[in-house]
Amino acid sequence: MKVELLKRDIDKLSDIPFAPFARPGLTTVNSGFRTEKPVCDRTKCNSCNLCYLYCPDGAIVKDAKGIKFDLDFCKGCRICKKNCKKGAISFEVEK
Ligand code: SF4
Ligand code: SF4
Repeated sequence: MKVELLKRDIDKLSDIPFAPFARPGLTTVNSGFRTEKPVCDRTKCNSCNLCYLYCPDGAIVKDAKGIKFDLDFCKGCRICKKNCKKGAISFEVEK
């Protein structure tokens, strides 16, 4: 069966059809099963924002000094650490 794709020029935001929107990531606190938490060494961080873009839970926020972790929503998956090219993210045991 041939599927016709919608052909449409999109020049501006208002050209994009309206669609439902959900906040990316989880919407309830999910840190309960984390045993280790991420820590950023700001002396190594170059603010490339890769960790911010890859975090599946939206648990990394940017501030004037770089990035910081929202530990209420971080589940400890380590995707941020894996994608940090500067080795700036490490994990420490929860206390
Ligand atoms: S450990 Fe996972 S959930 Fe937590 S900040 Fe890193 S990528 Fe996000
Ligand atoms: S990926 Fe690493 S270097 Fe880039 S902003 Fe995150 S912690 Fe900093």
